[in-house]
Amino acid sequence: MKNWVFTFGGGKAEGTARDRDRLGGKGASLAEMARLGLPVPPGFTISTEACRHYYSNDRQLPDGLKREVEASLETLERLTGKSFGSKAKPLLVSVRSGSRESMPGMLDTVLNLGLNDESAKALAEATGSLVFAYGTYKRFIQNYAGLVMGADPSIFEDIADEMAKRPVDELTASDWRDLIDAFKQAVLDEMDEEFPQDPFDQLWGAVRAVMKSWMNPRAVTFRSLHNIPAEWGTAVTIQAMVFGNMGEGSATGVAFTRNPATGEDTLYGEYLPNAQGEDVVAGLRTPHPLTKAQNGNGELTPMEDAMPVTFQELKEIAKRLENHFREMQDIEFTVETGRLWLLQTRDGKRTARAAIGIAVAMAEKGLISKTEALRRIDPSSLEQLLHPAISPDVERTVIGRGLPASPGAATGEIVFTSEEAVEAHSEGRKTILVRPETSPEDIHGMHASEGILTIHGGTTSHAAVVARGMGKPCISGAGSIRISTVKGTMLTGGRTLEAGDVITIDGTRGEVLLGALPMVQPELSGDFATLIGWADDIRRMKVRANAETPEEARTARDFGAEGIGLCRTERMFNDEERIRAVRRFILANDIGEREEALNAMQAMQKADFLHLFEIMGGLPVTIRLFDPPLHEFLPRLGPELEHTAQSMGIDAERIRQRIEDLHEINPMLGNRGVRLAICYPEMIDMQARAIFQAVMEAGEKTGEKVVPEIMVPLVAYERELKFTKDRIDVVAEAVMAEWGTGIEYLVGTMIELPRAAIRADKIAESSEFFSFGTNDLTQSTFGISRDDAGLYLNEYLRKGVIDRDPFITIDVDGVGEFMQMAAERGQKTRPDITLGICGEHGGEPASIHFCETVGLHYVSCSPYRVPVARLAAAQATLANGADERA
Ligand code: PEP
Ligand code: MG
Repeated sequence: MKNWVFTFGGGKAEGTARDRDRLGGKGASLAEMARLGLPVPPGFTISTEACRHYYSNDRQLPDGLKREVEASLETLERLTGKSFGSKAKPLLVSVRSGSRESMPGMLDTVLNLGLNDESAKALAEATGSLVFAYGTYKRFIQNYAGLVMGADPSIFEDIADEMAKRPVDELTASDWRDLIDAFKQAVLDEMDEEFPQDPFDQLWGAVRAVMKSWMNPRAVTFRSLHNIPAEWGTAVTIQAMVFGNMGEGSATGVAFTRNPATGEDTLYGEYLPNAQGEDVVAGLRTPHPLTKAQNGNGELTPMEDAMPVTFQELKEIAKRLENHFREMQDIEFTVETGRLWLLQTRDGKRTARAAIGIAVAMAEKGLISKTEALRRIDPSSLEQLLHPAISPDVERTVIGRGLPASPGAATGEIVFTSEEAVEAHSEGRKTILVRPETSPEDIHGMHASEGILTIHGGTTSHAAVVARGMGKPCISGAGSIRISTVKGTMLTGGRTLEAGDVITIDGTRGEVLLGALPMVQPELSGDFATLIGWADDIRRMKVRANAETPEEARTARDFGAEGIGLCRTERMFNDEERIRAVRRFILANDIGEREEALNAMQAMQKADFLHLFEIMGGLPVTIRLFDPPLHEFLPRLGPELEHTAQSMGIDAERIRQRIEDLHEINPMLGNRGVRLAICYPEMIDMQARAIFQAVMEAGEKTGEKVVPEIMVPLVAYERELKFTKDRIDVVAEAVMAEWGTGIEYLVGTMIELPRAAIRADKIAESSEFFSFGTNDLTQSTFGISRDDAGLYLNEYLRKGVIDRDPFITIDVDGVGEFMQMAAERGQKTRPDITLGICGEHGGEPASIHFCETVGLHYVSCSPYRVPVARLAAAQATLANGADERA
């Protein structure tokens, strides 16, 4: 009985594509191709179980393996008509690793095994080429000595230099033999061990080396980065060698069944005439294109012209493989003196655009189902399509790094103040705004610039949140960059840059790059719309957007948002004139002054809400009561304060005094959210009145019924909410009386503090909906500041203390538990309570999956992430076991 070894070749195989676990990706694909009757050099695969045995038995190979390998070699000899170790027709093999998941370049491979002094001579005679036979033998010695025997590759350098002095085709048989002797002597000198001449010794050495390479440091690191368990082990595939370097008519290459950049349904790839596979990888020679269509400058002959018959065969096989695997394939092939051989096939890597095009095309052709098409697309990759991106094939000079706070890329001159950004904008110049951090006063500068780079702040900092809303690229927390706004300089990566110097920021990767780089513009192709449409048919959760400006609301609707899940009203005061109104309120000495400021704010708010209601045309709009960390609204001490005093006609000393009164050591844990409402209830009245008046006017204007959802932030005590709701109800009564007509509205709260989650059953008595504010809930569950945590969380990530930044992906075990608890307790009191999320996690696919399991009714995210959320929500529905409706 056979346990460890599985053969393939000659139209048959002992495994299939489904045996990846045992045979590794390569072994399984070879078995499947052999079954399909495709031209695969025959061979056999030692299963991953043998590797596991090797590691759990003190690196001993299992009993019985030897017998099975020898029997399989006999089969191989029969299929090839060659024999292992023979002088006349030597069988040469490759010994390749094969993990269940691809681990490119991490494990070892030995080629040309079976060559020794005698078989090399026989090969030279059989092929009539000394260069081929001895060149291959030389490679084998180098390769084997390094990988199997552990020799330093540099031991061959002197001999190779000596050899390079003469053209290879002038070398005689005896020159070659001398050279080989020198190589073998170098091995003996270095390793104190003869280079093995017995092919069986070579084979067992190589098998052990491949298994050993499973634990080499780079493989271990790769596995930990890609969550590949060490216990899987590698398979070892031993396969008859075919040679792409047998002169004219021989070649080796890689073919994609579709264009991996665009998804276009044409064969695409490259090949090297007269070469072995490793020459393509080594990059020493420029590969030729496969097709005429690819042949840009026409300097290198495409395979389609050079080998038209073989090309046609490859093309047909490629289509067959794609149809068989129902997925775009990446195929390795070799042509040996005119005969095509396939060495591997696997799912091909591709851009987001190509991935969508391919999935939609395959579903429309009936090759896969629509749900399968949906499953195949990584929702985060859609962001590549929604923002300009740096052209993929340009060289990048990275001069600094920070957090990828808002995706997309932008180029511009460095400016260090918002004023400079605005001035440059008015002159038609493009800028990148570089600030220590941003505040509401920078909004005009952020608007005027192409992108934002901040030294401090995390992915939920002011800069990050506002930039995402604007759809502008942003890097935050670039802590290694030093800036002097006074001198107008920025020190990064050992360079000093000045205002006016041009940089590019890649907010998708968090990279700061030198100079201007070519960009590709977003393109929402027909396939994109088709795929998202299928997602909409499947998903259970609704998708809303976090939006407060009319542009954001419009973008949100364009991207398919089904309402606004968070309108941060404090952000509606993000321009200079409006900040002044808030400041007048904050700085007011008495109720009279405060009322005057509030009246001004109310008029602005009513106009804002009216505008939003009109744009949203009857869709739900969740308006959150004022939640400013007050410190964001006060001028900084120094010249800014003087300027504010002057422009507002207020005594600077009075402002200074007020700043001092309001100073908080921890403003993030300070007088924010509902606490402000309790301290200044007239603020609730002002906002409620603005909302209800806008509801009335919007209803009159559009004819659509508007049901606003008024949301109270940062509630911990049930009585905070009750207090606020009572005031809202009183205002509603008053406005209804004034207009002589009824208003429907909802009052609810955010769940963003642990106490609110714990008391959710009580809070639900006054709350018609819950929206999880997971930015604050994460901050308060962990007791870490959302503005500064990036500094040490990066260390946590680097050292493997955490796997994911909890401000990016919901911490399911802690924060998630609070969400689950709040949902259950809220529903106990109020079974029809609406549950949503409006923290930044609402646009992050893994978090969206979790929201599905909690049973939320909607997620809300920044407008540019709406399509991402639509797809992720559909995948979450599917993962949660929905019927296949498509
Ligand atoms: C939150 O805390 O998750 C939230 C949405 O509110 P903000 O980010 O405005 O504090
Ligand atoms: Mg919050």
